[in-house]
Amino acid sequence: MAKGILLKGIAGFYYVELEDGKLIECKARGKFRKDKLSPIVGDRVEVELIDESHGVITGISERKNQLIRPQVANVDQSIIVFALKNPDISFILLDKLLILSEHNDLTSIICLNKSDLDGDNTFEEVKNIYENIGYKVIKTNGKTGEGIDSLKNVIKNKVSVFAGPSGVGKSTLFNSLQDKVKMETGEISSKINRGKHTTRHAELIEVEKNTYLVDTPGFSSIDLSFMEPEYLQYSFREFKDYIGRCKFSSCLHIKEYGCSVKEAVEEGKIQQKRYDNYRDILLELMENRRMKKW
Ligand code: GDP
Ligand code: ZN
Repeated sequence: MAKGILLKGIAGFYYVELEDGKLIECKARGKFRKDKLSPIVGDRVEVELIDESHGVITGISERKNQLIRPQVANVDQSIIVFALKNPDISFILLDKLLILSEHNDLTSIICLNKSDLDGDNTFEEVKNIYENIGYKVIKTNGKTGEGIDSLKNVIKNKVSVFAGPSGVGKSTLFNSLQDKVKMETGEISSKINRGKHTTRHAELIEVEKNTYLVDTPGFSSIDLSFMEPEYLQYSFREFKDYIGRCKFSSCLHIKEYGCSVKEAVEEGKIQQKRYDNYRDILLELMENRRMKKW
């Protein structure tokens, strides 16, 4: 019996990297089909070896988490990439990606790329807001290689997935971290047209031993409508100290009397920008619910 990690699956064949680094081709044992459980990329699996390069997957370890699109298990962290300019950062999208990340139990790293275009000190602004609440914020440049070493440190011994809008440099960064797979980079419009009709399955790319990147950006849909409005507050980690202190336990921190969260915003302990995004996203979720009921 050997142990390994599932890097890639194609049409019923699974490619497993064993602990000694060897890559083997496997089938899954029939019992998985009965249990409606199929191995997915990222699974830690047990394998019965048939020969040097073939085996059968006989067990799947319990998953720490499981992303749906792309379908990958046991992801440790998301590298949320934005460009400092071209395109400008959308703070609401950044907060939504952080929410999805928290929701999936991933650690989030905020990576601000295109450092050459940072004319307005946007990096400092983002760093101030997000480092204060415990997110690591790094600055990179896909063209000059600035910051790639910090990015390398951040991904070490982890399974990471990139997230972020198009055109910010995710593929460029991915390419500078490893040379096994070359992702297509370029301007937004041309890539969207080419990529439209291809559905791809995610793979794990080994950067070095125990360090893997998912080769497809995560959270391609930032639809939060699955989330109950009352749960949103828990994804804003800096609210945690205040939530329990509101006068009403059902407080959603919008206009209720005796709200500790709002007090903290007034006292500058919670950043106004984050609070405004919380409120906007909450109203969006409530509006979605209302529409669904009708
Ligand atoms: P993705 O859509 O997020 O995967 O972005 P790409 O990696 O395809 O990059 C989009 C465009 O930005 C490409 O033309 C890249 O050459 C360019 N780019 C990537 N990194 C940088 C950077 O640090 N500075 C500048 N000025 N351009 C960059
Ligand atoms: Zn409140």
